Amino acid sequence: MNSLAYPPDLDRWRAAARISAKARELGISLAVPGASRRAIADRVEGFIRSQGAEPAFPANLSRNVEAAHYTPSREDEEVLQAGDLLKVDVGAHLDGAIADTAATVEVGGGQKFATLRRAVEEALRAGIAQVQPGVSVDRIGSAVEAAAHRYGLKPIRDLSGHTIQRYLLHAGKSIPNVGGLSTVTLEEGEVVAIEPFVTNGAGRIANGPFGNIQRFREDPGPSDPRLAALFARFRTLPFTLRWVDDEEDRKRLRRARRWLQTYPVFEEAGGGVVAQMEHTVLVGPQGAELLTALTD
Ligand code: MN
Ligand code: MN
Repeated sequence: MNSLAYPPDLDRWRAAARISAKARELGISLAVPGASRRAIADRVEGFIRSQGAEPAFPANLSRNVEAAHYTPSREDEEVLQAGDLLKVDVGAHLDGAIADTAATVEVGGGQKFATLRRAVEEALRAGIAQVQPGVSVDRIGSAVEAAAHRYGLKPIRDLSGHTIQRYLLHAGKSIPNVGGLSTVTLEEGEVVAIEPFVTNGAGRIANGPFGNIQRFREDPGPSDPRLAALFARFRTLPFTLRWVDDEEDRKRLRRARRWLQTYPVFEEAGGGVVAQMEHTVLVGPQGAELLTALTD
């Protein structure tokens, strides 16, 4: 008897994905010259909460050579400039049912990075087209890589997509953006985030400064009630101090380093500009079902 990997509450996953897709489009629409990333993040996350969901992670608003893992701090009022290439990478969760989706916009509507954006769109489409039960993730990575190369660009080889499980954004299987890295296979019913990154740089990332994103590695236990309450709120999902309004709570978190994993900004190692697109898909019997498409 074949036991399939479908989540038992699939409708909840679909609903979280619909909210995530709308949040992504809202973020893209707000990315205009003069807007601060702090204001965009607050609006996008506020939208997710207004829909009865919670952000599954802080809105990632990485810019230009930043590939991923930058969310603005409470104090970040720096504004976007025309010609910035902004990645809006967002996700909502409903009781741990998570979606993760991203798009890239050139601020101000210019065409300086049109090829980069076309390449990543094509890479995502090509990767998703490979999804079916039993497929090796190598087929997806190879398709993404080939699409980037058709445009004379490189995928970022050390960033990858991932399977998603309840309350686990990165659940164990990685979906590479190049061929030759993995022969893991996908199973029908799995929820998978496919997320190519394409660059005109070296195709690798280097760790930059702290990007204001952290998460609990494990339950810190009941000895500090404030910390216990924060763990009850965030579990092991990524969060940011921007969400923590109480100054005493922020102080506790700054001192609780041993319970916390902090994320550096991932920057393109060769100083290249990076475009990213991401959809969460369900591995259906006939292929990928796009969960984070805009449906209404
Ligand atoms: Mn992802
Ligand atoms: Mn993402």
